[in-house]
Amino acid sequence: MDERTAALDAAHRAASEFLAGVDERPVWPRASLEEMLAAFGGTLPDDGEPADSVIARLASTADPGLVDIPGGRFFGFVIGGSLPAAVAADWLVSAWDQNSGSSSLSPATVAIERTAGRWMCELFGLPTTSSVGFVTGAQGSNTACLAIAQHAVLRPAGWDLTRQGLRGAPGLRLVVGEHRHSSIDRAARFCGIGTDELVVVASDAEGRMLPDALAASLGSGDRTPTVVCLQAGEVHTGAFDPFAELIPIAKAHGAWVHVDGAFGLWAAASDRLRHLTEGIAGADSWTTDAHKTLNVPYDCGMAIVRDPADSIAMFRTGGDYLMYSGMDPWDVTPELSRRARGVPAWAALRSLGRSGVAALVERLHDNARHLAERLEVMPLVTVVSEVPYTQVMFRLDHDVATRALGAAILADGTAALTGAEWHGRAVLRCSMSSWATSSADVDLTVEAIERLAAEVTERSV
Ligand SMILES: *Cc1c(COP(=O)(O)O)cnc(C)c1O
Repeated sequence: MDERTAALDAAHRAASEFLAGVDERPVWPRASLEEMLAAFGGTLPDDGEPADSVIARLASTADPGLVDIPGGRFFGFVIGGSLPAAVAADWLVSAWDQNSGSSSLSPATVAIERTAGRWMCELFGLPTTSSVGFVTGAQGSNTACLAIAQHAVLRPAGWDLTRQGLRGAPGLRLVVGEHRHSSIDRAARFCGIGTDELVVVASDAEGRMLPDALAASLGSGDRTPTVVCLQAGEVHTGAFDPFAELIPIAKAHGAWVHVDGAFGLWAAASDRLRHLTEGIAGADSWTTDAHKTLNVPYDCGMAIVRDPADSIAMFRTGGDYLMYSGMDPWDVTPELSRRARGVPAWAALRSLGRSGVAALVERLHDNARHLAERLEVMPLVTVVSEVPYTQVMFRLDHDVATRALGAAILADGTAALTGAEWHGRAVLRCSMSSWATSSADVDLTVEAIERLAAEVTERSV
């Protein structure tokens, strides 16, 4: 057997064994970073090792330090698992080793990604003529979209950002919601906008931007170049900004509207949940992730921009040795060379079909409702927010007990969820983001929460 086949067989074996065991393993890792460093550290040996034995060693050594994200009971942050077609397509991407920055380097993967991008625009009800840039994730997308937006709003003010830079540029307002994702602030920093400069608009108790507050912060007759960042899916509550009210207000001031819909944009694929996204098509740019709700492996985010000319104006590549072909991936995103990360998204979409995407999103919502309903009847537990989408948040009576419950759940290993603070109180968050979560997984999780909440409460009295 040649070395390539032996190595791939070893990877296939290790991956299949790992995935076959995901329902049985503790969800939180058994090994710490220090233990993993001890296991993998040391000096680089002088002599090499055959590829298949490297792979077998890698898999067995890493095992105790892996988080069980592919199983059905990982609810931390907003993560998502990986559909079988997407995992397998990702292996092909590595075997093909295409440079998907350019269509001349890979007509196949650029065509696959372009198709995946169009399918997603159709699912979201966005213009199919938009540019869809495949980036690492929602952080990458928010940064790319903000850079594009900044150039687009300064140009009518007589300023060419790409030639003249930011120093000396006309004032620019970046208007954001009180409950924006932290990646918006980081995106602003990368774009040369300090966090003190942000215009922060108040939200309601669920984290939705208030239209009156937006109108007030934009002022009347003020034509300062403005970018307004809205949000589809707040990470604690899952709430959506009221786009149909907010976007016309922003547009009346000539603003560029960006929507961070890292996991929320997918609601638009469902007849039942689409109402949450009503009005989003009126924006100028949108962020979403395939590695969250669509359940493809890391990393895969999309920067969607209504007018491709705006993306190209910011990112067009100049090197004369780069064969030019109109609108290549590297003309609409910050990266040059990159893996064909959109291919697994194509495979996930093709394996689900339009109805399967809708069913996936609805099942995540059903699981969230089911969890919330079971938690609501527990005397020790308070469900903190409405559950319009995939996020559930709850707490015990005292913050100390809530935090202790969070630690107890991770140590117990049945499920993983992560803590946060909401309106000044400690809370635990449960994000329904994985295709692998069944209602039996939700029930097992509820039983663990009930048992551990009783233990924690008993200990603290
Ligand atoms: C997860 C998330 C992000 C950041 O996404 P990455 O894919 O981790 O870069 C940004 N915004 C929202 C609303 C998110 O949920």
